[in-house]
Amino acid sequence: RRDTIYISTGSSELDNILQGGIETGSITEIYGEFRTGKTQLCHALCVACQMPLENGGGEGKALYIDTEGTFRPQRLLQIAERFGMNGPDVLDNVAYARAHNTEHQSELLVAAAGMMAESRFSLCIIDSATANYRTEYNGRGELSSRQMHLGRFLRTLQRIADEFGVAVLVTNQVVANPEGGPFATAANSVKPVGGNVMAHASTTRLHLRKGRAESRVAKIICSPFLPESEATFAITEQGITD
Ligand code: ADP
Ligand code: MG
Repeated sequence: RRDTIYISTGSSELDNILQGGIETGSITEIYGEFRTGKTQLCHALCVACQMPLENGGGEGKALYIDTEGTFRPQRLLQIAERFGMNGPDVLDNVAYARAHNTEHQSELLVAAAGMMAESRFSLCIIDSATANYRTEYNGRGELSSRQMHLGRFLRTLQRIADEFGVAVLVTNQVVANPEGGPFATAANSVKPVGGNVMAHASTTRLHLRKGRAESRVAKIICSPFLPESEATFAITEQGITD
């Protein structure tokens, strides 16, 4: 079996609470409200995963499945510059696809596995893993069907993490009615989408929220082996920093 690799986020405080970064061989979930930095973290990791192991990298390519159309190659170039990496090479090592619906999203994993068998990938991103499921299964009566299909998708991701030793990173939204349907509870609290199915699939769950000014606060939620600790990081021109 391969050793676990920890891919650096670019923020030493955030890396510290993650024992070094996003780990290979399992699923890490990042959830939080709009504009809390989920997609920015995905971009930073697409660059970091290509770096040498001794620099916090994964010495592999990145695969990016985008469901919201928020992937920006230009942003990867800015981050690459911070680490003195060659921009065109960095872009060459990121395989990108837009997933238009849940069926397409699942089909892309089959193609992804084929590519990972051909060359070394260290990171697989689904940004967001749940958006298409929310759009397609939006009635109360469709909840069990949604959960079943989401569960199948996440099991395929776990197999990819195991088989190819990649870090799987999924992003998720928070909503007032995670179970779907037109009504929320009166509790006025927001929860990650996907209920137990999502909670059980991810080995590490990271909750993001806005902090003071441009800072963001990340908190580890219910990891089996990490304490529930918080880290503050910033989103800057150079990516994710302290
Ligand atoms: P989410 O995916 O959680 O909705 P994003 O990852 O898209 O959120 O984060 C958006 C935030 O990132 C915004 O607050 C924006 O100001 C910040 N951001 C995006 N690009 C840059 C940049 N080049 N320099 C500084 N901040 C940036
Ligand atoms: Mg986003």
